[in-house]
Amino acid sequence: MKQQQDDTFAEISHIVWQHLVDRDWDDPSPRSLAISLSLEANELLEHYQWSDKPVGDKEAVAEELADVLIYALQYAQVMGIDPASAIRDKLEKSAQKYPAEKFKGKHGEDRSKAWLEAKLKHRDNKKTL
Ligand SMILES: [Mg+2]
Repeated sequence: MKQQQDDTFAEISHIVWQHLVDRDWDDPSPRSLAISLSLEANELLEHYQWSDKPVGDKEAVAEELADVLIYALQYAQVMGIDPASAIRDKLEKSAQKYPAEKFKGKHGEDRSKAWLEAKLKHRDNKKTL
């Protein structure tokens, strides 16, 4: 497998889009991309259907992961979403919902309890808005 490089989302998104343009596939609908993204995620999941370890080699799993990421980048392009900003924003929200100090060092039942408390607190906060 190719080594990880320092490509940016913008560079990879351009390569993905050029692949579509070269084939006249550059008019996908958000709906079809969302469906394809879900289908590819399930193809990745299929490797774990009967086993905790993936069935197939790392290259096969990497191919399914690439399919998921390619459709995610296409969806971001079509919807005008900056993927890096979307990820940063989501992680910020997640950090507020699941504060690190409430989870660090907790495992098993303690982690489940902390997760449930955070989930309920988040739900109660949404009700008061
Ligand atoms: Mg696939």
